[in-house]
Amino acid sequence: VSITFTSDITVELVDSMGDDRRVVAAARVSTGGSPPAPEEDVSGLIRYLMKYRHGTPFEHGSLTFRVHAPAFVWWEWVRHRVGWSYNLESGRYKELAPVFWVPRVERPVIPAAGSKSARPAFVAADAATADLTRETMMFAYGMSYRTYLAVLSRGVAREVARSVLGFGVYYSGYATCNPRSLMHFLSLRTHDERAAVPSYPQQEIEEAARQCETIFAARWPVTYAAFVERGRVAP
Ligand SMILES: Cc1cc2nc3c(=O)[nH]c(=O)nc-3n(C[C@H](O)[C@H](O)[C@H](O)COP(=O)(O)OP(=O)(O)OC[C@H]3O[C@@H](n4cnc5c(N)ncnc54)[C@H](O)[C@@H]3O)c2cc1C
Repeated sequence: VSITFTSDITVELVDSMGDDRRVVAAARVSTGGSPPAPEEDVSGLIRYLMKYRHGTPFEHGSLTFRVHAPAFVWWEWVRHRVGWSYNLESGRYKELAPVFWVPRVERPVIPAAGSKSARPAFVAADAATADLTRETMMFAYGMSYRTYLAVLSRGVAREVARSVLGFGVYYSGYATCNPRSLMHFLSLRTHDERAAVPSYPQQEIEEAARQCETIFAARWPVTYAAFVERGRVAP
């Protein structure tokens, strides 16, 4: 069996609805105001809403992402309950593909001196340790996938056999959120020294979150700028 080992985590935008102008239109309805005119500058009201944490006008948009990520990234992602919808590939209804995550050679993997669980810091391994880590993981993944196929070949259900695949196997899924819930996710799943409350997420979910961030910044540029200006705190 041919197994794919990869470090890539991909986020593609399937669809989006709404923009900065929708935020302003939703906010203005409370005072009976009109939606913004086509060329109107909406930054003043958006910055005001962000500053005073009037968050609900940021809920009238939607982004749907297709994500390809190892199970351990999904395990963290699906903890975000509010304003998120998920559908994932099933390990019960289909055979899982032999695609497994390995750290990039340059990924820092050794806890640095003084690293704390709440503020982890890592340094690169020496070349021999980095190679050994990747090779050992690939060996274990190969064993586990062959075990999976062997158990399936005896007629055992996929839902039982899948347990040997562990946390490094990839799943595809759809994740849909609104701009407010995405900003909350970004505040927790990215590390940014300019943040009012810096978070220390695992690097791999941050890789996914940064892809979401780029997509969001392009479609809601005024909202995104105000979010950054307010220290990356979701309204
Ligand atoms: C760096 C980091 C380390 C983590 N480590 C751990 C860990 O060791 N163990 C672990 O279990 N999890 C861990 N988590 C996950 C974390 O506990 C949250 O589950 C995750 O970040 C989602 O955050 P949230 O609950 O704010 O988001 P959401 O579920 O999207 O909720 C959004 C907001 O809605 C409100 N809300 C949602 N549900 C409730 C509720 N029931 N009651 C009141 N208000 C509610 C809160 O204001 C919340 O902030 C970690 C997360 C990060 C970023």
